[in-house]
Amino acid sequence: TIPIIYVVTPTYHRPEMAAELTRLGQTLLLVPRVHWILAEDSKTCSQVLSDFLEKLGLPFTHIASPMPDIYRKLSQAPRGVSNRRAALQWVRDHGADNGVLYFLDDDNAIDIRLFEEMRDTRKVSMWPVGLIGLYSVSSPVLNDDGVVVGFYDAWPAGRKFQVDMAGFAVNVEYLRKQRKASMPYIAGHEEDGFLKSLRITLPDIEVKANRCTEILVWHTRTTKNPLRTLNLTKHKSDNIKE
Ligand code: UDP
Ligand code: MN
Repeated sequence: TIPIIYVVTPTYHRPEMAAELTRLGQTLLLVPRVHWILAEDSKTCSQVLSDFLEKLGLPFTHIASPMPDIYRKLSQAPRGVSNRRAALQWVRDHGADNGVLYFLDDDNAIDIRLFEEMRDTRKVSMWPVGLIGLYSVSSPVLNDDGVVVGFYDAWPAGRKFQVDMAGFAVNVEYLRKQRKASMPYIAGHEEDGFLKSLRITLPDIEVKANRCTEILVWHTRTTKNPLRTLNLTKHKSDNIKE
């Protein structure tokens, strides 16, 4: 049987959530042997998302872990770390050895062919991510032998691995062997910190998507309408008064 891909999606409640998760969930329905780990940034698993997952029909795990208050106060909060960490622990505890871990944010857009690219990951695999940063793409840079020698990314920021969260996958057995591997609570450095903690070198990286020449995932973002959020708050307080 082909390896299971554990897709880890951090999410949180806001007006756009249902639209994002419907689009992503129905994309995942097209992929064989996927296990979706939906990780809520909250103290408990919400009923609305439990119902959504039951109806969707994918194999899933629903977990919840809130961002600690000390980080929530920051102007640049590390988004989705506590919930991704909880999912990491679940994969360590329950994942199949030949399985693959993939972080896929709820607002991204993905071509399902990428799942077949990552499925045979032995340590860590990588590929380009579209619509990210000032260059519109972030990608590993390869030499003529197909070995990663650096990164093309508009925001180097002193990172060793200049990669977006959607730009890599990890083998579950390899993850399990790296006992100290974890994701830091540092905005913008979540990927770099996690990949460093996996103790890989650049030549270890398994390159995918036709030697990193194809874009199969995009860091799309949904605009937030501040008035929409304001209206919701207003209506809620109106209701309380009644
Ligand atoms: N997220 C979260 N809690 C938050 C904000 C975001 O769990 O308070 C999740 C969000 O649903 C997404 C991921 O973390 O899956 C990245 O967040 P976002 O898309 O806002 O970040 P950006 O794309 O701007 O880096
Ligand atoms: Mn996003």
